Amino acid sequence: MKFDVAVIGGGPAGLSACIFATRAGLKTICIEKLAVGGQASLSYEINNYPSYNSIAGADLTYKMFEQAKQCGTEFVFKNVLQITKTKTGFTIKTRDDNYYAKKLIIACGTIPRRLDVQEDKYVGKGVSYCASCDGAFFKGKTVAIVGGGDSAFEYAEYLSRIVKKVYLLNRSEKFRANNLRVENARKLKNVKILTNAKVLELKGDEVLSSINIDNNGKKQNLVVDGLFVAIGHIPNLNFLNFTIDLDDNGYIKVNEYMQTSEKNVYACGDIVSKHFKQVITACADGAIAGNSVIGD
Ligand code: NDP
Repeated sequence: MKFDVAVIGGGPAGLSACIFATRAGLKTICIEKLAVGGQASLSYEINNYPSYNSIAGADLTYKMFEQAKQCGTEFVFKNVLQITKTKTGFTIKTRDDNYYAKKLIIACGTIPRRLDVQEDKYVGKGVSYCASCDGAFFKGKTVAIVGGGDSAFEYAEYLSRIVKKVYLLNRSEKFRANNLRVENARKLKNVKILTNAKVLELKGDEVLSSINIDNNGKKQNLVVDGLFVAIGHIPNLNFLNFTIDLDDNGYIKVNEYMQTSEKNVYACGDIVSKHFKQVITACADGAIAGNSVIGD
């Protein structure tokens, strides 16, 4: 199957790139691992996307998907195993099929950063990386959230409506989250914010039952049914079998046209090395990438 452009990832950046590339007449395929919307689709409420005072992330990104489809983008839902360079473009290998494209837009986002406490043993058995996906399993129970960024506070607000008690554990005094978000969380009666609190160990037989933490230098055991890890995300580009320039943290370096160091390879959204990561900036990146593939 041959295309002018293959967009890897169907989050806001990838979908915006699809809209621009397809509208310009390029035969475009979007290859998405799971479901469209990316990380933004997990936000239960987005308040800073112009034109909506408040909209669920899933609703906003589904609108983008529908628009891209209407424009003529083809979608496949498959995990990309490997991308190799050919003389005239790129071969994208999935388990069942190979796709060929002259140009590539990498918009695959990032994966959740793991805590270094062997939490994999409890994933799906108390440990989660997504409050809107798994929060309902903890109705009336006690949970802890790790992190001090917007995601952690968003989780706290969301979970406070479902669970009995929420502990938010931030490893330092300083929060990365927006001040308003922190103030709102402080007003919630069933949310307890602990600073200088680090998770040391997860306890439980089959399922998580408690966590040992270092609370301002003192060891403490918190009895919790769930642990939501919201400590940021990391890039994962293992599927590329050629190299492109990355920053020290593994994010893709791009120029103002969203071009990477490799000819005909563009990148946009959270996988790109940049400071401000929001749905609106991902869309802007995608628009630029989708426009750049037209020209050269
Ligand atoms: P951030 O990178 O903003 O925050 C990560 C948090 O996790 C920090 O508090 C950090 O602590 C902490 N952390 C990192 N590693 C560890 C560790 N090993 N152990 C304990 N704590 C750790 O990530 P987010 O996912 O919160 O946000 C990512 C981006 O997405 C941000 O730009 C954010 O604004 C945006 N976002 C926007 C939303 C919205 O506007 N609706 C919603 C959610 C996210 P430290 O500060 O000490 O490094």
